[in-house]
Amino acid sequence: MIEIQGYHKRYGRHVAVHDLSLTVRPGELFGLLGPNGAGKTTTIRAVVGLTRPSGGSVRVAGHDVWREPLLAKAAFGYIPDRPYLYGKLTGRELLRFVASLAAHTTGRDVERDIERWLEFFSLEHFGNELVETYSHGMRQKLTIIAALLPEPGVLIVDEPMVGLDPRAAKQVRELFQDYAARGRTVLLTTHSLPLAEAVADRIAVLDRGRVLGLGTLDELRELTRTGHGGVEGESLERIFFRLVEEEEEQRRRESGAA
Ligand code: ATP
Repeated sequence: MIEIQGYHKRYGRHVAVHDLSLTVRPGELFGLLGPNGAGKTTTIRAVVGLTRPSGGSVRVAGHDVWREPLLAKAAFGYIPDRPYLYGKLTGRELLRFVASLAAHTTGRDVERDIERWLEFFSLEHFGNELVETYSHGMRQKLTIIAALLPEPGVLIVDEPMVGLDPRAAKQVRELFQDYAARGRTVLLTTHSLPLAEAVADRIAVLDRGRVLGLGTLDELRELTRTGHGGVEGESLERIFFRLVEEEEEQRRRESGAA
């Protein structure tokens, strides 16, 4: 459902992402992890058509994001890390507006769906308040509802848990798992390694725009076990630090040798 082939992104002389290729299949929840500045958001922005690749291609639901932008964009919902919401609309108005933009909601009982989602996130009593009065977590919940309301087949999510209280974070985690279990596709970036470990079918660890490891948790364990002295049954946190620290060590050796 998501195919990234040889994606490359350069900002001036700085290369933010080097030659990234990955595929996310239907029914799969894929986690993109990495330290600050690793290139996660740059990759996500390429997938949703907000940052033009310097090289390579990105397809969603079989459509090239730059050659067939409307078909590609109709196939996914996007939860950005820094959402822009219209502050002068109420929560309900904003959700009605979003639903009206999605052609395939025609004929559906959108009002019922909006109420169901507001209740799910305990926002039903705030639905007629202006969005500008919402707390950080309430805005995040509204952003998640706006992405899910058109029921897209692909969900692209950049750091979804920031600002959510523990109950909402649990609800969102289960929501994503359920989404993938119903045959849909989720691409998720997060700094929460326990979250990625709990929900992701496969994971890519990026650092400085390069993939350090990609696979299931067991495959990553195997990679670090054989190559980096890891042990069986290790947590994702241990694997993550092993990969990143090994990469830093390698860079130090190279710069020392130069
Ligand atoms: P974080 O975890 O901090 O959100 P990230 O993995 O999402 O990090 P990106 O935002 O993708 O990282 O940034 C990757 C690199 O690209 C960084 O070095 C960043 O400074 C650079 N970068 C991102 N956007 C731009 C831009 N618009 N102009 C110049 N450089 C940029």
